[in-house]
Formats: sequence, C-alpha cells, structure tokens
Amino acid sequence: MILIDGKKIAAELREELKQEVSELKAKHNKVPGLTVILIGDMAPSQIYVRNKEKSANEVGLKSEIIKYPEAVEEKTILDKIEELNKDDTVSGILVQLPLPKHIDKQKVIETIAPSKDVDGFHPMNVGNLSAGYESSVPCTPLGCYLLIKKIESNLSGKKAVMVGRSNLNGKPMAQLLLKENCTVTITHSRTKDLKAECLEADIIVAAVGIPELVKGDWVKKDAIVIDVGINKTDKGIVGDVAFDEVSKVAKALTPVPGGVGPMTIACLLKNTIECFKRSR
Ligand code: NAP
Repeated sequence: MILIDGKKIAAELREELKQEVSELKAKHNKVPGLTVILIGDMAPSQIYVRNKEKSANEVGLKSEIIKYPEAVEEKTILDKIEELNKDDTVSGILVQLPLPKHIDKQKVIETIAPSKDVDGFHPMNVGNLSAGYESSVPCTPLGCYLLIKKIESNLSGKKAVMVGRSNLNGKPMAQLLLKENCTVTITHSRTKDLKAECLEADIIVAAVGIPELVKGDWVKKDAIVIDVGINKTDKGIVGDVAFDEVSKVAKALTPVPGGVGPMTIACLLKNTIECFKRSR
C-alpha cells in the first residue's frame, strides 16, 4: 500500500511555488500578495491564519493579516474588501471562516472580486468550475486532486465516489474529477447504501466529519482513498476513514494527520500565484 505523504508532497509543491515566485519577481518586479481578514479571536482560526502567513512568507509571497474584533460591523468588512479589490498589490483575498453570526457569510464571499477569490467560493468561480472553465478551485479539493494525480496520472474512465456533498469539499472535488473524465457519484447523508456505492469506486474521497466512517470492507481492492476528515476523538485526531482496515485493501491512502491537511495551505499559495498571473 502506498501511504500518500501529503507533508512531503506539499513541501515539494511549496518549493516549486518558491521558484515560480522568484521568476515572477524577476519578470514583473512584483510578487503576488495574499491578504487574510481575521475576525474575532477563535483559537483554531488564529492558528490557521498564522500557518498561512508563515507558508506565504516561506515561498516569497507578500502577506498581510488584517484583524478585527468579534463585534466588528459587517459594513466595515465589506468596505475593506472593496478597498482590497481595487488594490493592485493584493492578488488574493481570503476571509477566514467561520464568521461571527451577525456577519452574512455569503455577502462577504460575493463581495470579494472573483479574480482575487483564492478560496474559490465566489459563485462565479463555482460556476466556472462546474462549466469546466478556468477558475479558482477551493484549496482542499485542489490538494486532494493533486495527491490523486501523483498516484495515477490518467484518471479517464475511473469510478470516483465522493462521500459528502459540501460546497467546500465534495461538490468541487466531483467537478475536478469529472473534468478528468471520471464517472463520479456524489453521496450524502440520505444515500441509501453507502457501502455499496463505495465498493464500486476506484477512487474514494471522504469528506464527512464522522470518525472512521469508511470501513475496510467498503473499499474495493486497489482503490485510491483520500481522507479529508479531521475529527477530534478520545484516541486523538482521526479521519473519516478507518485507516488500519482500509490500508489492508487500498492501493493508496492518505494518513490523518499528514495527508490532505498540508496540501490545503500549499494550494492556497498556488491559488494566490494563479490569481496574480491571471491579472497580468
Ligand atoms: P460538512 O459541510 O459538514 O459536510 C459533510 C457532508 O457529509 C454533507 O454533505 C453530509 O450530507 C455528509 N454526510 C453526513 N453524514 C453522512 C453519512 N452518514 N453518510 C454519508 N454522508 C454523510 O463538512 P466539510 O466542511 O465538507 O468537512 C468534512 C470533514 O473534512 C470534516 O471532518 C472537516 O473537519 C474536514 N476538513 C478538512 C480539511 C483539510 O484541510 N484537511 C478542510 C476542510 C474540512 P448532507 O449534505 O446530506 O448533510
């Protein structure tokens, strides 16, 4: 079984991005810039944002974090985004989720210029992705896609099953694999026989939020299994896939932690660079 080392693959990707940033700097005398808006003081968000800044600096991007207190008015955020949309030194804008309840998430997402939407959440990018056009792609599914392609470069005709249909993971992941000519099934909480669906799959991407939901006897021999889940349990952080069981049947599997997670931030940097290049 191939243990898909997301940490190593993400480090290689960051190295490639670092090289690309230095070439862009030589060509344009400018580097791509990422601005992150962080509202409130939720510990996980603070940690994510710090890691994003550290990785951005590591590859040579210009990065900025703008912090607001939890009680900030929605209008202040929307005005700031409008200002950043017009700022030529800002290539990508990310508003760290979740937001406080009084701020309308969809309004915030739709205020970010689609050309600077490094999260790929703007309806314009969602639409472009599903139409098969060029678009920003949400970072986690993009990371999963790159991991799958490391294992199998030609995905044409493969059966892929998404476990979970969130806008963040399952749906964009399905679009990426459809573009690769996979036959894609999207499952969710109302799916009648999830085990039977999974057993058909050459590729399973599990993004559910239920610890070890996907069992060993749900997986076809030699399937590629990508585990997006991050679940806190008594035995520590586990994914949505029963790792010990599935590792006995799968051809390749991501560990949790150290699989998909490290790819997400690397893909945010990649998206920032893509936004910069498209703006030139
Ligand atoms: P989400 O928005 O809560 O969506 C979960 C999806 O799973 C929904 O579509 C839901 O179906 C489906 N589901 C729930 N119970 C199910 C069941 N018994 N059988 C089949 N499907 C079921 O979750 P998310 O944001 O996609 O996140 C999923 C997991 O990934 C979480 O553990 C999260 O922490 C993790 N995550 C990791 C990263 C990373 O970088 N590694 C990034 C983002 C998220 P319905 O639509 O019918 O409700």
